[in-house]
Amino acid sequence: MENSLKSHIGNKVSSWYRDHGRHNLPWRKNITPYRIWISEIMLQQTQVNTAIDYFNKFMKRYPDLKSIKSAKEDDIYALWSGLGYYRRASYIFRAKELIHKDFNGQMPDDFNSLLSLPGIGRSTAGAILSIAFKKPYPILDANVKKVIARIFHKKKFNEKEFWHLSESLLDKKGIFSYQQGIMDIGAQLCMPKKPHCALCPIQNDCISNKLNSYVTLEKRKPKKKEVFLQFNLFSEGEKYFLSKSDDLGFWKNLWIPPVSIVEKCNFDIVHQLSHRSLKIAFNEQTNIRPDIEGKWFSREELKTIGIPKPISDRLLLNG
Ligand code: SF4
Repeated sequence: MENSLKSHIGNKVSSWYRDHGRHNLPWRKNITPYRIWISEIMLQQTQVNTAIDYFNKFMKRYPDLKSIKSAKEDDIYALWSGLGYYRRASYIFRAKELIHKDFNGQMPDDFNSLLSLPGIGRSTAGAILSIAFKKPYPILDANVKKVIARIFHKKKFNEKEFWHLSESLLDKKGIFSYQQGIMDIGAQLCMPKKPHCALCPIQNDCISNKLNSYVTLEKRKPKKKEVFLQFNLFSEGEKYFLSKSDDLGFWKNLWIPPVSIVEKCNFDIVHQLSHRSLKIAFNEQTNIRPDIEGKWFSREELKTIGIPKPISDRLLLNG
């Protein structure tokens, strides 16, 4: 496909966004580099609909870089409770420390400085630069990949090809609208099974539409390891005993009840992590006391600290 044709696609995408894009998403209002950064980190592994409430809650507490300056890591974990992929909360904590230490409390507006911050890879840096600073950098999230695969009707790309195509499609002058438009086409029109091609601004340029054959990118599913966990629930009145532990290799900054990894057990629930399938059993402990360091939390306090979702669901349900 000629380069002029590719930039012509970019123009169509940006003008479609102005009329049909999801302008109501909260991070697309009152746009600042900080708001785009937080939303992009949330959206890395979370669906838009789930991220909205978390984003609003986060912005209510920390509306800007100044307000988040003195936040402790625990405060950020508490706001992240239930969202999963908790490493992202730690990235935000560490990145905001560096922004205040090395960048004068301002989000950097150059690619290499952004990449130096924890949790910011090439695509997230591209999103911050293009949407918040209106600089022509490409992004490559799952939606953009899907649309590129469909336009060129190819199932397999290596990352280098993907980046090259993503860059070649950009509408550099209308980068703000283009970037959000290509994401919206991926999310709203270019559905996995039945894409809404009749509504799509690039229907005449898209090879999949012309062939009436819609490729889906081949995904490698990680093989998940089964892990059996027994949590001991110690309660006293309406208080629960929780601690922080490095032993599991995940959730290390979150509050959890004392836990043992066992070979097998009759489990109450299954909870999926990216590379592990957790089979979880809860044992109510009434006669013995915990023998590790930790704290007792009331029901109200449980709502203000960082706890993994399967644990908070169980504890708050019990209360
Ligand atoms: S024309 Fe259809 S298949 Fe092609 S990008 Fe648009 S929605 Fe996807």
